Amino acid sequence: VELLCALDRWLGVAVPADLLAGVAHTDALIDAIDALQHVPVQPTDQMSDYARCVNPYLAAKLAQLKIDRRFTRADGAWLFDSDGHRCLDFMSQYGALPFGHHPVQIWQALQGLREDAEPVFCQPSLAPSAGALARVLLQHAPAGLRHVTFSNSGAEAVEAALKMARHATGRAGILSTRRGFHGKTFAALSATGNPGYQQPFGLPLADFDNIEYGDINALQAQLAQRPGQYAAFIVEVIQGEGGVRVAPPGYLRAAQQACQRHGTLLVIDEVQTGLGRTGRLFACDDEGVVPDILTLAKALGGGLVPVGATLANDAAYSEAFALKHSSTFAGNALAARAGLATLALLLQDDSAMLRHVVAEGAWLRQRLAQIQARHPWLVTEVRGRGFMLGLCLTRDRSRWPESFLGIAAESGDLAQFVASYLLNVEGLRLAPTLNGSNVLRVQPPLNATHAQCALAADALERCFDVVATGHTGHFFRAILRRQAPAAHALPSSLPPSVALPKPAVKPAGKAQRFAFLLHPLDETGYADYDPSLAVLQPAELREFATSMAGLLEPVVGSTVHIQSATGARAQGDFILISHTAEQLKQLPQREALAVLNKGIALAQQRGAAIVGLGAYTSVVSGGGAQLANSHTRLTSGNSYTVVSAMEALDAALAQRGQHWQHCSVGIVGAAGAIGSCLALLLAERAQRLVLIGNPAHTPAAGRARLRVVARAAVVHVLAHAAAIAQAQPDTPSFARHILQASTAGLDIDSMLASLEQDGSLILAGSIHAAAVAQVLVTATSFPGNLVDDDLLAHGALVCDISRPRSIGRSILQRRPDVLVIDGGVIALPGRPRIGPYGLEDGSSYACMAETMLLALDGPCRDTSLGATLDVAEVKRQQLLARRHGFALASPRSFGLPLPPLAGVVDARPVLATAL
Ligand code: PLP
Repeated sequence: VELLCALDRWLGVAVPADLLAGVAHTDALIDAIDALQHVPVQPTDQMSDYARCVNPYLAAKLAQLKIDRRFTRADGAWLFDSDGHRCLDFMSQYGALPFGHHPVQIWQALQGLREDAEPVFCQPSLAPSAGALARVLLQHAPAGLRHVTFSNSGAEAVEAALKMARHATGRAGILSTRRGFHGKTFAALSATGNPGYQQPFGLPLADFDNIEYGDINALQAQLAQRPGQYAAFIVEVIQGEGGVRVAPPGYLRAAQQACQRHGTLLVIDEVQTGLGRTGRLFACDDEGVVPDILTLAKALGGGLVPVGATLANDAAYSEAFALKHSSTFAGNALAARAGLATLALLLQDDSAMLRHVVAEGAWLRQRLAQIQARHPWLVTEVRGRGFMLGLCLTRDRSRWPESFLGIAAESGDLAQFVASYLLNVEGLRLAPTLNGSNVLRVQPPLNATHAQCALAADALERCFDVVATGHTGHFFRAILRRQAPAAHALPSSLPPSVALPKPAVKPAGKAQRFAFLLHPLDETGYADYDPSLAVLQPAELREFATSMAGLLEPVVGSTVHIQSATGARAQGDFILISHTAEQLKQLPQREALAVLNKGIALAQQRGAAIVGLGAYTSVVSGGGAQLANSHTRLTSGNSYTVVSAMEALDAALAQRGQHWQHCSVGIVGAAGAIGSCLALLLAERAQRLVLIGNPAHTPAAGRARLRVVARAAVVHVLAHAAAIAQAQPDTPSFARHILQASTAGLDIDSMLASLEQDGSLILAGSIHAAAVAQVLVTATSFPGNLVDDDLLAHGALVCDISRPRSIGRSILQRRPDVLVIDGGVIALPGRPRIGPYGLEDGSSYACMAETMLLALDGPCRDTSLGATLDVAEVKRQQLLARRHGFALASPRSFGLPLPPLAGVVDARPVLATAL
């Protein structure tokens, strides 16, 4: 049944209910799948039209959040999607649906226009409906407002307000508040206090400044600091998108006085608060404030027609503005009739609807306060009034340090996950606010009934009971299955906290700070980090990984303290990037680098002197070279990885009584940074060198890359001839061949030709060449298993340093003659736990260890970056490791400890035969 439902969801095939009902056993399932072939597929899918032709990026985000619904019908507070699910819409289009969807009275008013046949668009003329709407608005607006300029949206209403203020005062400056929201056109966005929305577009414009909201001293100081500069101060009565923030009592009145003293016009933006949302027609009436200019939009269109309005007093309004500002659709009769009907509805029965908002809003707020009292650390505040309410969610992760719900809380993204749960499980539609992403807005239509409010409150209560467990697995599974978790399945208490990330404080004493970027290698990495995800089926875990990709901002996964054998100390943050290896690889490089730069920015913010690049963060940035800049010191950690692979192989060979000089040594990924450096070091030791490149290259290009590596290996052997001879009196044949060829006066190209001819050197574009290697190192960036179990030589020793692994676990059963050892795992001095990354306590990967070594040894410089490693740096890392007490971890295979020689077939007889 699940499979059929999945087909339904993924392919857009409508699975008939009778077909589902018949699936009781496997045969029936097969028949049902067969029958699906005869179900007609809808020729056009509106959602994919939207995704393809309107906004693919938004569509992708909605899909990640599992809120990519296609609503096909709406009625009042209810929305119905294409699957027939209904949900209670308490978002009300950010306040633009005062009476829910399809309000009958507004439709009637529009129908009335049709019947009257008043022209809808007829500029310039004395438009009767626009005139009537303006008159009614002014009749109820704060005193002194005498002119209405119509437009088509909130942002346009703000644009008009700012133009008016500039002309009336002859000043350019516009002052606004941080987190305030005024729209997304150039000037409105310049006044919007969110750099994230501004910077990509080169905004704010000149002369736009902002100050803290609700701080009258800040306003007075700013006006005094730039006397005669500010044309307007624009402010909301309640910051809606800023997170439903209510200004302290008296703030707006004091702001009005300060503005008057400085000749600055006060613009009150009531685009969201206006027309009933707070239980008053104008929210500023609650404060007894009289602005010079007041903006309206959203509710004014009654939920059916876009419209904006800018109300102004005589001081703000001027002939020049009136004659030079216009907009084709402004003041059209359709919008005006909708506005008139809206005001009539709000004011009828002695403003009964406004009184309803006050009473029901107070009840709902008190229910939300009860929910907050149930989970005070999770819901930190209930804000707002009337039907403009917000639940502020925690950004403190200390209760669930190693849960993705905790991470989402810290990165300010919990509200969007909660909104997804509410929609999918509870059928309640809410959304976070734009400039305050950890605030969940609750904005029912003004005519929402008590029963609907109670339904919403109960849904919220049930949802927060689940969130409070910190159990990401149950939470996400409920979203996927659109079904609440069974109460008995939920843990009663929170999972124990293990490695609490430390706040960004300056370390005491001389502890040097470092950071390390890492990411889940594949979806199982998520479950390593957050064990609650174990309840997910493999396909669900994959969906979880897809949902997380790029959704969460980089966060500190854990913090570790290291004390070296010398007594030097370092403290480091492991910064989590929410992409798997495969996902990072799929990203266009510009986007991948942008993601990594966010992680690096966090590292810098926390004072890191060096940042290590783990796993694919190094692969997608050209070994870190493309991230290098003058502000941050970086390392790929590849040099110490090389050291660790060599040491691991030395130890394993010694344990098996084998000798390098009798082994064919293969390197998978030989043209990569790690592989090519290993090629130099192994050229000193091997009997035969098998360099295996990336089969994705054309044979000619692949061979050319491998030849560069082989040439470097030859040069390396020649340069270190004396040392090689001294270390190994019985000089291994690969090196011996080179030295003899050199004595014979051959140039390097001839040496390479002779090595290949002789079989001492194999350059291969195919993984099949690995079959001749008794010792194999895998160091690739291929995000999956690459080496077939059957391919390996009998009794081969493999050191797999690729992450994700190049060799699958199945080899344990299928090839007991082969020994696979994990490369690159280091035992740390003092054995600290670095965090939940699938490593034994006290150990780390070598690339992490290199970052720590550099921090401990300081001062830091860029290290191990780019496609070529320096053997001298590799040797330095080996010395640093010894000095600071870092050592190879005890040997492991697929993360499991290897008992001495257990399961190891002595390969010598086989080797002897082969030789
Ligand atoms: N001003 C405020 C206070 C708003 O809340 C909004 C929108 O949310 C705007 C202006 C912009 O309105 P629009 O989206 O219609 O341009």
